Amino acid sequence: MATTDRDYYELLGVERNASEGEIKRAFRRLARELHPDVSEAPDADERFREVVEAYEVLSKTETRDLYDRYGHAGLRSGGFDPGHVDFGSLADLFSAFFGDEILGGRGRGGRARGADLAAIVEIDLVEAARGASREVPFEVAVTCSHCGGDGAEPGSEISTCPTCNGSGRLQQVTRSVFGEFVRTQTCPTCSGSGRRIEQPCSECKGAGRVVEERTVTVEIPPGIHHGQAIRLSGEGHAGLQGGRAGDVLIEVRIRPDERFVREGDDVYTTVDLTFTQAALGATVQIPTLDGEEDLELGAGTQPGEIVVLKGRGMPVLQGFGRGDQRILVNVLVPRRLTDEQRRLLREFDEHTDERTYGKSEGLFDKLKSAFR
Ligand SMILES: [Zn+2]
Ligand SMILES: [Zn+2]
Repeated sequence: MATTDRDYYELLGVERNASEGEIKRAFRRLARELHPDVSEAPDADERFREVVEAYEVLSKTETRDLYDRYGHAGLRSGGFDPGHVDFGSLADLFSAFFGDEILGGRGRGGRARGADLAAIVEIDLVEAARGASREVPFEVAVTCSHCGGDGAEPGSEISTCPTCNGSGRLQQVTRSVFGEFVRTQTCPTCSGSGRRIEQPCSECKGAGRVVEERTVTVEIPPGIHHGQAIRLSGEGHAGLQGGRAGDVLIEVRIRPDERFVREGDDVYTTVDLTFTQAALGATVQIPTLDGEEDLELGAGTQPGEIVVLKGRGMPVLQGFGRGDQRILVNVLVPRRLTDEQRRLLREFDEHTDERTYGKSEGLFDKLKSAFR
């Protein structure tokens, strides 16, 4: 269930036409300000949840569209459940600023694995057919080189946290009419590390990590499909105190190419013939994934006919061979005729008989067999 009925744009303090970047920045600023561990405000917890929910909806094109068009009701009918936050998509943001513990990612001893990071690259269909290489820039939390991830100024002392005696956890006992409740929480003094740093590192202020701009090169394999992701192991956010780094997940989006429609590994194109070209036969230029090519069409080519170029479609991802290219023939019938043209066509018509047009497979049957 949605936890708030307030306007998501208002919650983040952005315009309705705000860009992805603006939304991300607004969220980061508010999240840092309102995080319950940081904020003193009594309603910080609730406001933090609302802001997370708003970001969760507005940061994804799919849910943002739904919300823009139909509001909260649209999200509910679309099966979206904002109360159930998908932490995967937020993990990178949170961990970069607060550390992994608020996501429960930290194991005992504080050697938590770093969070994954998500990025998007856009390529053309022709690049998807050939494979491509892309430089992807992103912000990543890396181990602080000054303290080696310790969080302590080199040479300074590290002692056992006096609040939790080094366990990193605290038990809170609450008594009520129903009995005694024991709640275990992360030690607020040491954030679960069990250590007390006497003098925080001057570079990372004790966080053990710093945010850095980095670029990775991603190799996109031929035949990749729209929406598929490539995982780069160990290139994500650094772990805490020597924990393993997370991964980078790069989602590949393929820009639509107006010349082709992709269907699995096959591509479809159309070719326009004038009615004289169709009747007399012609050689025409067609686009293929390998460039422009000449295609020879025989006399009497019919509209709706489909020419199949075997093995000229998309490469099979991580497999062998390629799909096919299917070319749908469209025949253009003149829309405006001069008196002279009209006269010539009438004269032509007088010279035709049943054999001129002959019999052929119906257009409908052809379409059925081509798209099967
Ligand atoms: Zn440091
Ligand atoms: Zn402690």
